[in-house]
Amino acid sequence: STTISIDGFTAWLDAFRTRVTENKAYLTELDSAIGDADHGSNMARGMAAVMDKVGAAAPSTADELFKTVGMTLVTSVGGASGPLYGTFFLRFGMTAGSVSECDGPALAAALRAGLEGVVARGKAEANDKTMFDAMAPAIDALDSALASGASLADAVAAARDAAAAGRDATEPLVARKGRASYLGDRSAGHLDPGATSTAMLFDALAEVIAA
Ligand code: ADP
Ligand code: MG
Ligand code: MG
Repeated sequence: STTISIDGFTAWLDAFRTRVTENKAYLTELDSAIGDADHGSNMARGMAAVMDKVGAAAPSTADELFKTVGMTLVTSVGGASGPLYGTFFLRFGMTAGSVSECDGPALAAALRAGLEGVVARGKAEANDKTMFDAMAPAIDALDSALASGASLADAVAAARDAAAAGRDATEPLVARKGRASYLGDRSAGHLDPGATSTAMLFDALAEVIAA
């Protein structure tokens, strides 16, 4: 398909929920090494609440859908990741607008706005060992694939691969933002939990767009 519809967006969120739920123990294990051992439970609880709200509200436009998603994450997840993912989805929806589907450039613009929201909120830069390190390369890869004429499915697959590479590249980094930064040099040698969940977000998108 050359577009993603509201049903596609809902399937994306559901596929992300599935991934963070199935990997709840793994995400928490990563966070136990450099944080407070709650990233898996935070994300699983947050996405369960999101799917409950979305199922009840049945929004018909992207702005309504992602406003619900963002507000639910902000209110149901204590900790850094709730407000950060919440802001990501709120900005995503505001930029996608009152539409029932997005083409590749519209999807890329919404994702870029979401990333800018994460940066506005958390001030992360490249190599701070955060979700930024998976998200920013994914969106850069999406943009360049679309610019070179790739199909939406191929462009999102490139974004997925870049997110996974960005996740892997957080392992040797010393954290400069969030709880992991309190560990200083001892934060090196572990994957960042938030970059790991963000790679799941792009993996979910690629699965849904390929379907
Ligand atoms: P908390 O650290 O409050 O317990 P989580 O464990 O759910 O929250 O989320 C931790 C993740 O949040 C980190 O692995 C990192 O990816 C992300 N994170 C933390 N602070 C920031 C920030 N300032 N900017 C971007 N991402 C951040
Ligand atoms: Mg934590
Ligand atoms: Mg916490």
